[in-house]
Amino acid sequence: MGDPIFVTSPLLPPLEEFLPYLEQIWESKRLTNGGPFHEQLERDLADYLGVEHLCLFGNGTLALVTALQALRISGEVITTPYSFVATSHSLLWNGLTPVFVDIEPDSCNLDPSKIEQAITPATTAIMPVHCYGVPCDVERIQEIADNYGLKVIYDAAHAFAVTLEGRSVLQYGDLSILSFHATKVFNTFEGGAIICPDAKTKQRINYLKNFGFANETTVVAPGINGKMNEVQAAFGLLQLKHIDQALARREYLFARYRAALSEVPGIRLPEIPGNVGWNHAYCPVFVDSIYPIARDELYELLRREGILARRYFYPLLSDFPMYRGLKGSSHAELPEAQKIASQVICLPMFPDMQEQQQDRIISLVCDPLHV
Ligand SMILES: *Cc1c(COP(=O)(O)O)cnc(C)c1O
Repeated sequence: MGDPIFVTSPLLPPLEEFLPYLEQIWESKRLTNGGPFHEQLERDLADYLGVEHLCLFGNGTLALVTALQALRISGEVITTPYSFVATSHSLLWNGLTPVFVDIEPDSCNLDPSKIEQAITPATTAIMPVHCYGVPCDVERIQEIADNYGLKVIYDAAHAFAVTLEGRSVLQYGDLSILSFHATKVFNTFEGGAIICPDAKTKQRINYLKNFGFANETTVVAPGINGKMNEVQAAFGLLQLKHIDQALARREYLFARYRAALSEVPGIRLPEIPGNVGWNHAYCPVFVDSIYPIARDELYELLRREGILARRYFYPLLSDFPMYRGLKGSSHAELPEAQKIASQVICLPMFPDMQEQQQDRIISLVCDPLHV
């Protein structure tokens, strides 16, 4: 058995391409606090993604926590149980109460038809996730938010470069947040951003990510240190030169998985609507009862073969101790999320994955009883 194949492997350009950026940082001695690389990456990323204003952060979780602060969200926030823990943890860090609402089994996103029944007088916002980079039903979510006077903050950590009807999915809602963690489609080792609609909101977010300083002697809020440093920002500029190639490679690898696995009985791959320009951020497959072995047996089988597929997202957020027992958190109230969490397995997929590696995974999934 060769080296293990992880579920993902970071996009990492040749080291020699990064050295000139480091030399510039050493020369200027500008290390952080909105240095030249930071300012350039904010402009270049906004252009690349097709959004007006973008505010960089040290990581995506700080961006989520700050987005909630920026809009002064209080009370209850409706969110999905089918996500990474940072989504709901950001609510607890703001003293907010998550109210979990079930998902649609096809998109794995918050089910708009179930949002209204979860709204109470304490509800102030909805925090949906574009799970695996597949857009939520943004129109219906906005309609509900408008009717009830709620804010919408999208956790778009998976949705780098995703479009809907040719337009960036990051333009929907009041704010969207991105993650540039090492495991994401676009990384700055650690990093993140808030996408906001206007310069005034961006100004406030800039204060909040720098302790609340509006100028040398004025502090307007109990802000945090959420800043992205110059090494991260410079790396982001270099990554931008390679991202189109990485996205194309993801598309190619996902198409190979689909061609090989879509006819396997008991295995379902996600269907991406035709109006979506997807980023192929993950390769989730859903294992149902007609598959020869259980999902967890497939997970263990792959593990024994050195293939470290991951069950994103299992367990549900609502099953973790800090959320258990909250209103709406029981399995009976989240049947679709419960079912999807019991079926999902994300197969390894990353830009420099080799076809032979992928073929090994495919043959194991196609014929799990004849290993
Ligand atoms: C990765 C991720 C985050 C957190 O981002 P970090 O940059 O790791 O802090 C938030 N939400 C979702 C859905 C994620 O996958």
